[in-house]
Amino acid sequence: MKKGSENCHFNEPADLSLCVVTAKGSRVTDGIIANHLFKAREIWPNIPIPEPCRKTMSYEPNAEDIDPNESIPNDKNDIRYIAMRECPDVDIAVVYIKGQYFKDKNTIAVSYYTDERPYLIVMSDGTIKSDYALAHELGHILFHTFFAGIANDPNPYKRPDGTIDYAHDNDSHNVMWPNAPLNAVSTKEQREIARFSTLLGNTSSDK
Ligand SMILES: [Zn+2]
Repeated sequence: MKKGSENCHFNEPADLSLCVVTAKGSRVTDGIIANHLFKAREIWPNIPIPEPCRKTMSYEPNAEDIDPNESIPNDKNDIRYIAMRECPDVDIAVVYIKGQYFKDKNTIAVSYYTDERPYLIVMSDGTIKSDYALAHELGHILFHTFFAGIANDPNPYKRPDGTIDYAHDNDSHNVMWPNAPLNAVSTKEQREIARFSTLLGNTSSDK
């Protein structure tokens, strides 16, 4: 399996640059990471996703200790600090860590919208069996960085209690369904929103 380089320098501002960091204890393999990228490119075919740079971290965070609803702490040792140090010039750092789930025993991956780049996606070992987990998290970040402000999903998810979750999609076959399904799809409307992310060189003044 082809491994990306250590070098995190990407030339094209219109590319979505990723840095993949494997933390100590994670059970992810190069083959799984390649599959996650393959599925992400399949779901977002109009987004140029070059081969990521690759890093490892000797720090050993456990997803099962992390509350997925809390923002990531800014401790010197934490995942975010290491991602900023290792991947300073990329749009998104994707960090694979050990633990089958996050603390809620349901969430397998979380995206964090931080003030500074890189944005952060944390993937637990639970994503190993979820082909579209990375495609889903990238969708969150692309929608969050829509040039005209945070974009809602075009077909927002209706929770069982009747409230609306604008970040997820209401079709259980869609990649943005709350738990990305097997054989997930994206819609043309979703792909059009994703294409106008500021991470792809669009500026907030673009029309
Ligand atoms: Zn989600």
